[in-house]
Amino acid sequence: MDIEQFRKAGYQAIDRICDYYYSLQERSVVSKVEPGYLRQHIPLEPPEKGEDFQAIADDYQKFILPGLTHWQHPSFFAYFPTACTFEGMLGDLYASSTCNPGFNWLASPACTELEAIVMDWAASFLGLSPAFTNASGIGGGVIQTTASDSVLATVVAARARYQREHPDVKLEDLVIYTTSQTHSLGSKAGLVFGVHVRAIDVDLDDQLSLRGEALRNALEEDARIGRHPFILIATVGSTSSGAVDSIPEIREVAKDYPSLWVHIDAAWAGSALSCPENRGVLHLEDFNAFADSVCTNFHKWGLVNFDCSALWVRNRKNLTEALDITPTYLRTKHGDAGTVIDYRNWHLSLGRRFRSLKLWFVLRGFGVEGFRTYIRRCIELNNLFAQQVKTSEHLQLVTKPSLALTVFRLIPRPVSPDQPKFSLGPLNELNRIFFGRLSARDDIMLTQTSLNGIFCVRLAVGAARTTEEHVQQAYDIVSKEAKVALESWEQTANTAGAIIVA
Ligand SMILES: *Cc1c(COP(=O)(O)O)cnc(C)c1O
Repeated sequence: MDIEQFRKAGYQAIDRICDYYYSLQERSVVSKVEPGYLRQHIPLEPPEKGEDFQAIADDYQKFILPGLTHWQHPSFFAYFPTACTFEGMLGDLYASSTCNPGFNWLASPACTELEAIVMDWAASFLGLSPAFTNASGIGGGVIQTTASDSVLATVVAARARYQREHPDVKLEDLVIYTTSQTHSLGSKAGLVFGVHVRAIDVDLDDQLSLRGEALRNALEEDARIGRHPFILIATVGSTSSGAVDSIPEIREVAKDYPSLWVHIDAAWAGSALSCPENRGVLHLEDFNAFADSVCTNFHKWGLVNFDCSALWVRNRKNLTEALDITPTYLRTKHGDAGTVIDYRNWHLSLGRRFRSLKLWFVLRGFGVEGFRTYIRRCIELNNLFAQQVKTSEHLQLVTKPSLALTVFRLIPRPVSPDQPKFSLGPLNELNRIFFGRLSARDDIMLTQTSLNGIFCVRLAVGAARTTEEHVQQAYDIVSKEAKVALESWEQTANTAGAIIVA
């Protein structure tokens, strides 16, 4: 493809992307293809001779689009959103056009400098402490691929710090602390680094939040048996239910354990810190005061196209001392003098994408005000849904709605006040039937979860084009499927005679 052919193909691509967005609402949210569908359409060997790009572009429309689940569809309420904006898309387009592995400052000064600046912008509008900014010269912010990668970098840094402070501790005695609600990134880090992971149990009565006492008990117990917890991955807005660990209590406990690194995983909820009214429930002031690192994914609820995971650390030296390897061919005058940031020493890989460009485009395009408006709209829409669940005849909130996430289940109302309660097993069965009905539909997408053994359904608002109408429609669908599921369950359960436990 030469430059003029690229110009033509590029215009066509943008046209087709616009058409895709115009038609999004008419598409089914979930792809209807069967496993292995693509092998019937795509040859098993690459072509011997280069093909005309028009044929390639047409095959994308024909074979790839039908196999996509439309995360930007206004009726996509599954997992968490992966917000996507035209500003972000253009940022990625420009970034890939200069194709830059930006590992050193010298590899492309603009890549490093823009990242250092926009990460400070982001820290500022989310209300993070200035201690986390690049401008502080001590702390700093870096864009990683995902929250999981952010944790890997953090765990290496925490481990290296712990081992510097406790040189005699053996690797097999180190422990990563998580809770039963921590994202699987905690267990993954344990696998990668070959260290123990302890998941502290949390209670539904505490809204699944890690309490200070449970943490202290675990720390004391591990100290007695010679284990060394070196990092706690605390969650602010958990994946299953939006649970927020009790950061003020953790802060108190952490005072007695200064070697314990505290990482705040706010992959989803971090974007909500942009609105001052959410900072209290997310314990911003507390984690600002003591956390060693904070992560939020702008590619989740933050309007920036995947991938853009923002990680801030209170002391950048902990990262660079753990990860700095500088062979001769990577040495530069500025790097040696320590006058520039070399981001390759802040994460696991060497090369890195120019992701700050899209973050810059989005933050400028929306402004702080536009960003807040989007977040507030998502929360309002979720409240609309949650309110209806609360007053519904058969649905029940399992935990308090968290920002833009509602976790609920279907529950039969007792026929009379003295009828015994339904036991968990049959209720879970009922909810599996209910969720099965919801997931058989292609006009909406929600996900399931399990909270301390309770099977539930999650609805997360976040797609940029979701409006009140879509949320109302979602509630109507949920409500209708709930009734059908309940009827069929009651019939089978009555014949089996096994719903009720005294
Ligand atoms: C989504 C999510 C993650 C994982 O995000 P990746 O960027 O895909 O690794 C981690 N923690 C929480 C709380 C999440 O919601």
